[in-house]
Amino acid sequence: MASKKIYLTGDRPTGRLHIGHYVGSLRRRVEIQNSGDFDKMFVFIADAQALTDNIDNPEKVRQNVIEVALDYLSVGLDPEKITIFIQSQVPELTELSFYFMDLVTVSRLQRNPTVKTEIAMRNFETSIPVGFFTYPISQAADITAFKATHIPVGEDQKPMIEQATEIVRKFNSIYGETLVEPDVVLPDNAACLRLPGTDGKAKMSKSLGNCIYLSDTAEELHKKVMSMYTDPLHINVADPGHVEGNCVFTYLDAFCKDSDFAEFWPDYSNLDELKDHYRRGGLGDVKCKKFLEKILNRELEPIRERRKQFEKDIPAVYEMLKKGCEEARAAAGATLEEVKRAMKINYFDDEALIREQSVKYSQQ
Ligand code: ATP
Ligand code: MG
Repeated sequence: MASKKIYLTGDRPTGRLHIGHYVGSLRRRVEIQNSGDFDKMFVFIADAQALTDNIDNPEKVRQNVIEVALDYLSVGLDPEKITIFIQSQVPELTELSFYFMDLVTVSRLQRNPTVKTEIAMRNFETSIPVGFFTYPISQAADITAFKATHIPVGEDQKPMIEQATEIVRKFNSIYGETLVEPDVVLPDNAACLRLPGTDGKAKMSKSLGNCIYLSDTAEELHKKVMSMYTDPLHINVADPGHVEGNCVFTYLDAFCKDSDFAEFWPDYSNLDELKDHYRRGGLGDVKCKKFLEKILNRELEPIRERRKQFEKDIPAVYEMLKKGCEEARAAAGATLEEVKRAMKINYFDDEALIREQSVKYSQQ
């Protein structure tokens, strides 16, 4: 049953997408999409999930749906090859979540490391919305509704995929083989697992306001790179510098290719040489930042250009999303039927049940 390769990922429409999303997941999705090495790929905008911690700000979520869709198209996701949809428009996902709720305990959710971190990050303390607390369950529904086998995400999502796997096992053990276990697909490059913010904080995140957005202009990018967190001990150019925990070098790890040196900075032939010089001392932050800026522009310029093209026809983007939602409903609906049959809640299409009951009562 699990021999097919079905990819699925999503993003919350809580802001435009940033370079953390790009290296953590988006870049990989585009590579896979273009390699053709998959049976199906679903990418969705998780608006229902975004509402779990933005319930009083629906306009923010609504406005960002189109932003995320434009970001998808601008990085090269192609609705001709994959299905792009909006989570709330596929009610089958909500229905599936409801049944999954009985397969997970409150204490298991409390132990989920991603839930813990995200609760702390949002200062919820005791006022956690139930919907937010249970979002690993809805994520399991999103994954299993499409029988997804491969989930390309950043490291922060790993515990979510583990939780989904547990739900699948529990479901299948009670109701028989129905759902498919997913596998997480993490970036190969360690710097991309969890890209830090420009302030040096552990994760670039929309909620923390420390992002370089894919749609930032060259001017915005320039400002952000120049004010980026580096090494607080590297005060004078001559001082030895640290590359660990230094955003400029982490971003170089994530984006730099050897060919960038030939093109932009022929004094060095690769990143190791540059790092060695920085560590020894005698290499200023500004020079490194200028190099990083060129590399980021090299990567982001084609994305910005494509975005401009798609921005010219917004109705077409909504039309694309609508079509994607219809495709997604068909796929999720088929799984939901199987789930209901397995759970014995398919009363009207079970002729055997009706016959059996009539026999029982006709004999009384
Ligand atoms: P929010 O703050 O609203 O949670 P976010 O910036 O964390 O937003 P999500 O929509 O939660 O973004 O994440 C979408 C995808 O991007 C997930 O696969 C996640 O693992 C990945 N991702 C998010 N931030 C990073 C990051 N800094 N580095 C690597 N991957 C990331
Ligand atoms: Mg997040």
